[in-house]
Amino acid sequence: MKTLWLFGNQLSTSLKGLSQINQTTDQVLLIEAKSRAVWKDYHKKKLVLIFSAMRHFARELRALGYQVDYREVDSFQEGWDAHVKDYQPAEVILHLPTDQSMRQLLRKWKARQEEQGRHVTTLEASLFITKEADWEVLLPGNKAWKLDNVYRHLRKKFSILMDGNQPIGGKWSYDSENRKPPKKGLQFVEPLLFLPDEQTRAVIAKVDQTFPMNPGTTQNFTLPVTRKQAQEAAEHFIQMRLATFGDYQDAMIEGDPYMSHSLISSALNIGLLDPLEMIHQAEQAYHDGLAPLAAVEGFIRQILGWREYVRGVYLLKMPEYKDVNFLKHKRPLPRLYWDGETKMNCLHQTVTEVIEYGYSHHIQRLMVLGNFANLAQINPQDVSEWFNTMYTDAHDWVVLPNVLGMALYADGGLMSTKPYVSSGQYINKMSNYCKGCYFNVKEKTGERACPFNSLYWDYLMVHEDVLASNPRMKMMYRLLEKKSAEEKAELKNQARLHLERLEQGQL
Ligand code: SF4
Repeated sequence: MKTLWLFGNQLSTSLKGLSQINQTTDQVLLIEAKSRAVWKDYHKKKLVLIFSAMRHFARELRALGYQVDYREVDSFQEGWDAHVKDYQPAEVILHLPTDQSMRQLLRKWKARQEEQGRHVTTLEASLFITKEADWEVLLPGNKAWKLDNVYRHLRKKFSILMDGNQPIGGKWSYDSENRKPPKKGLQFVEPLLFLPDEQTRAVIAKVDQTFPMNPGTTQNFTLPVTRKQAQEAAEHFIQMRLATFGDYQDAMIEGDPYMSHSLISSALNIGLLDPLEMIHQAEQAYHDGLAPLAAVEGFIRQILGWREYVRGVYLLKMPEYKDVNFLKHKRPLPRLYWDGETKMNCLHQTVTEVIEYGYSHHIQRLMVLGNFANLAQINPQDVSEWFNTMYTDAHDWVVLPNVLGMALYADGGLMSTKPYVSSGQYINKMSNYCKGCYFNVKEKTGERACPFNSLYWDYLMVHEDVLASNPRMKMMYRLLEKKSAEEKAELKNQARLHLERLEQGQL
């Protein structure tokens, strides 16, 4: 008999492996391993999501007629050994895991199986739009890598928002129209949330008992855990909330973590949703007049462009990519990333939301959490580990390029042409955080000066040797040049005071 072994982020009935087994005589193996070596100290909601989605998927497969061996054990090895003892499979089929560390373990495991005379077939998982082999062509080693080239290629290839060979509306990107600051009284249609069923409640009890010290909480778990729920949530977003997604996708509002964001990434990244299906549905919403082109294009670019692109970078640049630290930042991750205890309101609000929901939207990730980590010169690997731990949609392939490349410029510009750093002005423009903050966003120095301000100028001074020649940083360095030696010294001193307080847990 054959065994098809599926992992917790391969929960799709369209996987090729399912068509290669006999429903009556072969087994689908799912191993719910609780070992800390497997899961590190993940946010409790992330563990609930993966375990609950696995259990629901097993039930769905059984309803479709498959034989499912579901193992609740300590480690993958323990689950595998027990499966072999019970079923003695002559052949095993697996889909390649997305993360490199899992692939390395799999290579060793595969060699051991073949030594024992068991045939192992590995297939590519169809959880992405682009085939792995295509990335060598899409991101050639002899040219600078650009999201735009990849995105345009995929738009044409799949004929998404196209009018013949040209983009509908005449532009490939409507990003510049999608940056409106929040206005007073702005409200959005609520997302579709799901109360835990009996199965999920059992998983919540297990996670609370087994991982009591992990960050986050299992309370108020509302994520979709089945394909049906995920499709309902996506459809609700496309019908009711996509229209307002575009305008305010970069805005941040205190007390409203979801705003008009889709919240589908956690389901998409474990296989409950199909990326191309989402794209076609969003495109149809544009043709049906449900959402404007700028909103639809912005949403599609996140999935067809950015999601695919970061996957390509990960495939081509690992394993060395995980260790990049171009700016040589060394400060350990401060405690406030774990408890949200800080007088800086933007960080306090964002971290508190991440602790509660295992989620924050992309601008909070980039321009609050990433921006601060970069300006405070925090070790990039500490930061990427934190993102990997805390977010329900986080997996190695998505975290490393987004955090190390995009947010922290730790790859020296492979993914972005300049560091995404800003003073407090940007946060003040795009959010209402500064109004309720202990610090004054308009001040650069002094007891209550916004830390982002002096840290920003200090960052430019510290990295002048590698950043001043960057064409996109020239304007900022011209402004720095105009500052007197005295002003620069004051900014440096203020940044030092903030960093000392940060280390003492008093910022
Ligand atoms: Fe954040 Fe500075 Fe605004 Fe406070 S004043 S919320 S620290 S940007």
